[in-house]
Amino acid sequence: MPLIAARIYSPEECVERAQALLTVWPSAAEVMRSYTQLIQYQCALLHSQLLSLKGEPGELLENTDFAYFVEQFQEFLKSCEHFEQQNLAQAARAVSAKSRDYLVDVLLQSWTDSDREEQSLELFFARAFWQAVLQSWARECDAPASAAAPSTCPYCGRRPVCGVLRPEGDGAKRSLVCSMCSTEWPYRRLICPNCEQENVEQLPIYSAEQCAYIRIEACDRCRTFIKTIDLTKDGRAIPVVDEIASLPLTLWAEEKGYTKLQRNALLL
Ligand SMILES: [Zn+2]
Ligand SMILES: [Zn+2]
Repeated sequence: MPLIAARIYSPEECVERAQALLTVWPSAAEVMRSYTQLIQYQCALLHSQLLSLKGEPGELLENTDFAYFVEQFQEFLKSCEHFEQQNLAQAARAVSAKSRDYLVDVLLQSWTDSDREEQSLELFFARAFWQAVLQSWARECDAPASAAAPSTCPYCGRRPVCGVLRPEGDGAKRSLVCSMCSTEWPYRRLICPNCEQENVEQLPIYSAEQCAYIRIEACDRCRTFIKTIDLTKDGRAIPVVDEIASLPLTLWAEEKGYTKLQRNALLL
């Protein structure tokens, strides 16, 4: 993680946090079970040699024999056949049964088109696969790969899945977390990460009393929102995990007419 001295959370810590949040967000229990399973299947990939590469993502993709990605993706799909959630298990079996050429297409499509709104389940698996790969690559990398716009990830160019407030001096400093590779980079507090407008009157912040450490940061100009996890209020939170568990807040914001800036690993 090149830009912010953010902690890298181990998969075990994420699973533990997900379990702790079941009592806070009981309505997200099924989602969290799928999420903890997904972490385990992504972890199984960590033994593969493609994860220890170092460099800029596009370059690594180009310099690696694509057959190897396909092979690893097939292994990953085999693990995903064990999802408890039946529609996910069935979809994994269906994608597994496809031809090699088909899987190449799915992987390439997901690589270039990971931010699009409507996603099929096969793209869900491909995206989860790339997520594991890119998270490892980003960890190996010491410096940002490209000078991307500040509202997109400096390593892989994807959009942020959530914001974070970390203690700094007497206040808090905001950063954004990449939806794909989990790189965290600094970002100013009073600006919309979608349309970059800075009029505070058009940047309302909402939070629920029972979980004041999660803020819905909305923009009344472009009508998007992003959740920001305030670690000055709850230092035990793991931003990406807490973002997924607080699904009811997402639904609340969507009911108010806002669109989520970027969907998370579970496409929520
Ligand atoms: Zn990234
Ligand atoms: Zn905006």
